[in-house]
Amino acid sequence: MKIFVINAGSSSLKYQLIDMATEEVMAKGLCERIGIEGSKLTHKPTGKNPFEAEKPMPSHTDAIKMVLDALCDKDHGVISSLSEISAVGHRVVHGGETFSCSTIINEDVKRALEICSEFAPLHNPANLIGINAIEEAMGKDVPQVGVFDTAFHQTMPSKAFMYGIPYKYYEKDKIRRYGFHGTSHRFVSGEAAKFFGKPIEELKIITVHLGNGSSVAAVKYGKVIDTSMGFTPLAGMLMGTRCGCIDPAIIPILMDKYNMSTSDVNNMMNKDSGVYGISGVSSDFRDLAVAASEGNKRAQLALDMFTYQTKSYIAAYAAAMGGVDAIVFTAGIGENSPSIREAAVEDMEFMGIKIDKDKNQIRGTVDVTAPDSKTKILVIPTNEELMIAKDTLQLIDNK
Ligand code: ADP
Repeated sequence: MKIFVINAGSSSLKYQLIDMATEEVMAKGLCERIGIEGSKLTHKPTGKNPFEAEKPMPSHTDAIKMVLDALCDKDHGVISSLSEISAVGHRVVHGGETFSCSTIINEDVKRALEICSEFAPLHNPANLIGINAIEEAMGKDVPQVGVFDTAFHQTMPSKAFMYGIPYKYYEKDKIRRYGFHGTSHRFVSGEAAKFFGKPIEELKIITVHLGNGSSVAAVKYGKVIDTSMGFTPLAGMLMGTRCGCIDPAIIPILMDKYNMSTSDVNNMMNKDSGVYGISGVSSDFRDLAVAASEGNKRAQLALDMFTYQTKSYIAAYAAAMGGVDAIVFTAGIGENSPSIREAAVEDMEFMGIKIDKDKNQIRGTVDVTAPDSKTKILVIPTNEELMIAKDTLQLIDNK
């Protein structure tokens, strides 16, 4: 069984072809600048030379056709024909309250996705275009599955997902916390349970996904009871360029004072804020670490804010769950930055949380718990694509 995994953005498309017998990636790649000048495909077949092509891709359908050609190409391809692909799994950003698990895509699901586009106007339409483009390129018979960023968080109780604004906005407009990165939180909490050799239903786990976007989730007995992102992925802790939670009154004050439009203020909060906005240096934590080590105080402040906010969520979620068996760090920063991990759990011995500073330097999947820590601290690389492929396989097997 070979599953094709697609993550379609508004002008980009990431993909992986996964052989489910071995769970190995046969090829992966990226189409950039779809619909704009300078479109480019970067295709990386495992065990063969990478291939790059700069060719116009006016639409996602053109991009997908190029990718499918690359997968079957005699030089840099990895399959002999498209019939080897059993199904296609799509990352879909917003499933609203409609989707609490992955689902086989049909016309009803597509209509529901269109309705959810209201919540994620930049992402969901691209996901739908990706689904339609596959149908066009591979025919309607190839099963397609949607795997939602929001789905894993649908178990949150209302006391965690409601906002303190008039109830009518929930009833009428479905304004509430949804949470994102659900596929990653699900994958790493599942892997943590495997590490314990225990059913996830017996564990209290805090998953800490620190990447370009960052979020924390409280996974109690296999179900999310709270998470830091909100109605949109702008909420929660400050991130690379996103502000995270701020006093909401700041927005109208700034809009009035500087005559800012909604799009000005949205850009400011999404693109000019976070550790980038604080430091004025970069959104990349490697650059921030270098700048801070050279004495840049604002870079150090950005790092301190980031780790302080991470730690606040860890403590809050330990309280929400009445304890914590494991804290799992994942994603670009969580997997690769020992100093961020160390600072995020600093001085938490009083809660039974202590990191082993030496083990924390080791790379890969690693237990970085100090011998006298009650809570395990784990680093587990996330693999959202594999999770999407596994869901896809399971759903088509049960069809
Ligand atoms: P995305 O959310 O786009 O999937 P990633 O999970 O790949 O992002 O995380 C990307 C971030 O990881 C980069 O912005 C960079 O700051 C950070 N990162 C990658 N490698 C390191 C490293 N060695 N040390 C610190 N941060 C790193």
